[in-house]
Amino acid sequence: MTIFERIIAREIPADIVFENEDAIAFRDLNPQAPIHVLVVPKKVIPRVGEAAARDQAMLGAVLLAAGETARKLGVCSTDAGFRLVINHGRDAGETVPHLHVHLLAGRSLKWPPG
Ligand code: 5GP
Repeated sequence: MTIFERIIAREIPADIVFENEDAIAFRDLNPQAPIHVLVVPKKVIPRVGEAAARDQAMLGAVLLAAGETARKLGVCSTDAGFRLVINHGRDAGETVPHLHVHLLAGRSLKWPPG
């Protein structure tokens, strides 16, 4: 089981900010912005580059959950705003092999990212 599956199963605690039947969103343990939430599908695939056509609905559901989470956290405006990040592989900084979307907000984010 990945650490995120254990959070979904409530085996380990997390600060959950949104949940529906497809996804769960909880605050990152090591936040990189004032708001740093991980939006995680309940159906597990390791990383986005391994997704297949059968995962289409799940991938859409994760983005919808990210938007809903941003609205719930009050950052879904063109003034405030937020960034979604998906890391695939070592060079991108992936550490947990369970697809997840980082939702970052609460400060001005640099572009391009480091
Ligand atoms: P990745 O580097 O794979 O894109 O992102 C994994 C993220 O999961 C990291 O930002 C890391 O801080 C976070 N993380 C790892 N273990 C835990 C945990 O047990 N609880 C929470 N809330 N976040 C975690």
